[in-house]
Amino acid sequence: MFLSESQAAFRTLRKAIPRVRLYFINKNAYSTQVEYKPIRSVLVANRGEIAIRVFRACTELGIKSVAIYSEQDKMHMHRQKADESYMVGKGLAPVEAYLNIPEIIRVCKENDIDAVHPGYGFLSERSDFAQAVIDAGLRFIGPSPKVVQNMGDKVAARIAAIEAGVPIVPGTDGPVTSKEEALAFCQKHGLPVIFKAAYGGGGRGMRVVRKMEEVEENFERASSEAKAAFGNGAMFIEKFIERPRHIEVQLLGDKAGNVVHLYERDCSVQRRHQKVVELAPAPRLPVETRDKMTEAAVRLAKHVGYENAGTVEFLCDESGNFYFIEVNARLQVEHTVTEEITGIDLVQSQIRIAEGMTLKELGLTQENVVPRGFAIQCRVTTEDPANDFQPNTGRLEVFRSGEGMGIRLDSASTYAGAIISPYYDSLLVKVISHASDLQSSASKMNRALREFRIRGVKTNIPFLLNVLENQKFLHGVLDTYFIDEHPQLFKFSTTQNRAQKLLNYLGEVLVNGPQTPLATSLKPAEVNPHVPQVPLVTEPPQGLRDIIVREGPAAFAKEVRSRKNLLLMDTTFRDAHQSLMATRVRTHDLLKISPYVAHKFNNLYSLENWGGATFDVALRFLHECPWERLEEMRKRIPNIPFQMLLRGANAVGYTSYPDNVVYKFCELAVQTGMDIFRVFDSLNYLPNLILGMEAAGKAGGVVEAAISYTGDVGDPKRTKYDLKYYTNLADELVKAGTHVLCIKDMAGLLKPESARYV
Ligand code: ADP
Ligand code: ADP
Ligand code: MG
Repeated sequence: MFLSESQAAFRTLRKAIPRVRLYFINKNAYSTQVEYKPIRSVLVANRGEIAIRVFRACTELGIKSVAIYSEQDKMHMHRQKADESYMVGKGLAPVEAYLNIPEIIRVCKENDIDAVHPGYGFLSERSDFAQAVIDAGLRFIGPSPKVVQNMGDKVAARIAAIEAGVPIVPGTDGPVTSKEEALAFCQKHGLPVIFKAAYGGGGRGMRVVRKMEEVEENFERASSEAKAAFGNGAMFIEKFIERPRHIEVQLLGDKAGNVVHLYERDCSVQRRHQKVVELAPAPRLPVETRDKMTEAAVRLAKHVGYENAGTVEFLCDESGNFYFIEVNARLQVEHTVTEEITGIDLVQSQIRIAEGMTLKELGLTQENVVPRGFAIQCRVTTEDPANDFQPNTGRLEVFRSGEGMGIRLDSASTYAGAIISPYYDSLLVKVISHASDLQSSASKMNRALREFRIRGVKTNIPFLLNVLENQKFLHGVLDTYFIDEHPQLFKFSTTQNRAQKLLNYLGEVLVNGPQTPLATSLKPAEVNPHVPQVPLVTEPPQGLRDIIVREGPAAFAKEVRSRKNLLLMDTTFRDAHQSLMATRVRTHDLLKISPYVAHKFNNLYSLENWGGATFDVALRFLHECPWERLEEMRKRIPNIPFQMLLRGANAVGYTSYPDNVVYKFCELAVQTGMDIFRVFDSLNYLPNLILGMEAAGKAGGVVEAAISYTGDVGDPKRTKYDLKYYTNLADELVKAGTHVLCIKDMAGLLKPESARYV
């Protein structure tokens, strides 16, 4: 493989960076309690936008980035954005591929990987994965397996919260596995409650119960949903907080036990317990509440020995009380809004912490973390909001994004031509806006989303726009009921897609020709072109047609041969019909000029004025009768022979007609005014030519058999169509009774020199 100069220079530079970094650390002799070991390569055990997010951080740090991809993701963008990529899980189901721990570890070992970043979802909260990575001698960019295990289990996490003195939602102490236990809890503590999958996430396996008689049935349903989704039906039960806000605190911890918070995010805008729009900071949150929450989160993290990035999620009730719900021991989808307001790159920090750097060395002391302005993230998904947010798949026909100041886009396969598959979640692009306050940030977001043009696959943008324009949203009055309580959010006008329709039409016309008839009810244009006048009373002068009428085709041919001067055939009337809009000339106009032609061009051999194109244009576009045109022109031009092209058995079409059709057609053509039939077959196929000649001849027309000239007779070595071929063919046509012989040099191949032979 050849690298371009700039690529090669970049690689050299990148290799150099870790060494420089190491030197820098040694030289300054940081007082680290933990060993610093640089990471030179990171494999991301994930896909899509989050994989790319991590690759970008790696590249910025001079670290080699490595992707894995499933068979189904062969063409996916995350594969291209890494320095190296390896397929995993060949033959496995699409999601299974990314869950295949042994294979991922094998790829790491074979390719000299130092560390693994799990992203979010997939294996990110699997302690067995974190352990397998460590056992293979690699670093896991996240908390220790033990912490991952404890925090992934919602029941264990609750116990840790209690120990750390963090308020929790009242609920069961341990997992509940039977409906009887569930009923007993509800009877004792009262309703409403929420059932949650102990090992769940993403809002699945969750059920709110408000009536005692619904406890048992709902428990069983939620439990079996959890079993299907997470492989374990264990549930726990919490008191349901009415009208809560979902507020979460972002944390970073190092290996030395230091923890800082990066303030909070508000993720109350949810649909079916899943986040849709996320904000940082939480609007209208009293400073004291914020301080208490961030402090509680840090306390919990320190208590469990949390290292790397993580989030503590809380619910806040209307009276300002807050309750711990869970810890997400990983990077979250909405980490971006925190990055925007703090200016801290969370992924770079994660990698540095995994290398052994302390928060202090990274400059991440609590005083240094200062939130600025207001950030919003919208998850643009390929879901159809008009159809209950059903995932929509297919090819992105058009993709143009909204950009500009204050807008950040985190996406993966977003370009025209990308295929949106049904195999993975439907997140298409995360759009993040950042401005000084909520309203300005919302208007940047609104503007950016309106700039997007996504066609071919439906997206939730119309829904997001409704959220962004909602007055409650704009004033930061939010809770998790927001979406359910605003049915007007689901009313949107569908895009008209005008630009795309116009493009499709132009494409169709370019490739297949015009498909729409002209609007023939329109009056002829009022333009009156200048038509040279002829004396109305006098008959036009004599022409060659008089001989055909008087003495027949043979006499005509004889007369033509006897003429020493050059005879011309005029194709103007024919070229008025090449199916192009510009040449669809109406009979109305052709007739106007006809008398002048009859008077002034009486010496012409013929006028070619009728044939295939006439039928095409007259029938499809002008909605005129081609036969009437012939008849009317004949009346006005009685003296010049009319000529047409006859494609043998194909007559004036592109398909072979029954013989009797061709015979009858010629008969009618002669009756209506046609004189000369140039009979033609592009392959000089004699039987086809002869049929046309017979039909024209029998009808009383002049037969002008045409030879298609397709080779160079002057260069007999290079063509099988030599002079002999053409003279033989000419003999055959003469034998078949042609009146006139025509050489049709269709492709302009006849050189002057060769014309002499012919
Ligand atoms: P997940 O693992 O799916 O993220 P969470 O426990 O974080 O589950 O809860 C997700 C969402 O469900 C919360 O943001 C909130 O809207 C709702 N929820 C969870 N627990 C409660 C509760 N006790 N009362 C009210 N709503 C809740
Ligand atoms: P719709 O017909 O649903 O309104 P179109 O994509 O057809 O949507 O766009 C309508 C018009 O908007 C286009 O004809 C063009 O003038 C303008 N337009 C389209 N895309 C953009 C864009 N990315 N930025 C600004 N204007 C655009
Ligand atoms: Mg959660």
